[in-house]
Amino acid sequence: MPLLDTFGRVHDYLRISLTDRCNLRCIYCMPDLHMRFMPPARLMQADELITLARHFVSLGVKKIRLTGGEPLIRKDAAQIIESLGRLPVELAITTNAFFLDRFFDLFDSIGLRSLNISLDTLDEKKFKGIAQKDSFRTIWKNVETAVSRGYHVKLNMVVMREQNLSEVPDFIELTRSQPLHVRLIEFMPFACNKWNYGKTVSYAEMLELIQGKFDFEKIKDAKNDTARNFRVRGAEGTFAIISSVTNPFCSTCNRIRLTADGKIKNCLFSREEGDLLSVLRSGGDVKKHIVESITAKHAARGGLPPFESKGAAGEFEKNRAMISIGG
Ligand code: SAM
Ligand code: SF4
Repeated sequence: MPLLDTFGRVHDYLRISLTDRCNLRCIYCMPDLHMRFMPPARLMQADELITLARHFVSLGVKKIRLTGGEPLIRKDAAQIIESLGRLPVELAITTNAFFLDRFFDLFDSIGLRSLNISLDTLDEKKFKGIAQKDSFRTIWKNVETAVSRGYHVKLNMVVMREQNLSEVPDFIELTRSQPLHVRLIEFMPFACNKWNYGKTVSYAEMLELIQGKFDFEKIKDAKNDTARNFRVRGAEGTFAIISSVTNPFCSTCNRIRLTADGKIKNCLFSREEGDLLSVLRSGGDVKKHIVESITAKHAARGGLPPFESKGAAGEFEKNRAMISIGG
């Protein structure tokens, strides 16, 4: 039985957050240095996480992406990844790549071939300003290793007017000679990230910046893809723009999120959550709660007002911080 909402959207893609902790402190994600993390007892234990994932798979989920916080920081990450690798799903991961070198062999052994890596700058000093940690060299080395080992590597760049907008052409330039897939992401609002509409560099602005500098073509977007994909003519890699703010993809959304403390979120921006972990721990009907959550999904943005409307920042601010949702 597929997970169908009242708008006819089939939900077959689950993002599981392994932890709300991270070795980095990206300003758009976890801006507050004094953030309070979830106590370990509130986190899904490995066996609970696998059981919940199995319930989703039995309801038609075909793809699982691990995220966080930083998923690879969790001590039992390898055990969890190995177990999920045995499920009949496509398994993927979004990571900041700092610990990636410890996981290549495991990924090879379970056939995980696609890596989404967050990287907002190619400048070591700027990296320290954005991620608030001096980790650029380690991360870049792991990106290079991932490419040389033949992984499909997507580089996720959150484009920010003051911090890295000027580097967009440098990132696209990378795709000419390397099989890298750069994804330019519009800055989105979450708790404590000081968002306002004017801070989001829009799809249109990004295209305008790129247009004068590269000879590029539109290429096909995958079904349910949140990215508009392009290729510089003759380039090995591609680039894409993810415009969740100025051109949202809600009408084709197939995503469900499971937070590290076991709450189901039927939308990234939804303030309504279902406590699947408590249902599981008390022996309740997990599947029923999953179906109820998907049935209650709003048409767009978790039922919140358009991003450009007056007072929107205050509404989106009432969500969790991105780091404790799982992007
Ligand atoms: N730590 C991992 C990483 O950085 O790839 C996984 C978690 S991170 C929350 C997942 C993705 O969310 C990253 O690509 C990050 O750039 C993106 N992200 C975080 N905050 C965002 C925001 N305010 N707007 C747009 N994307 C954001
Ligand atoms: Fe950590 Fe990823 Fe958030 Fe950066 S974007 S603080 S790497 S979870």
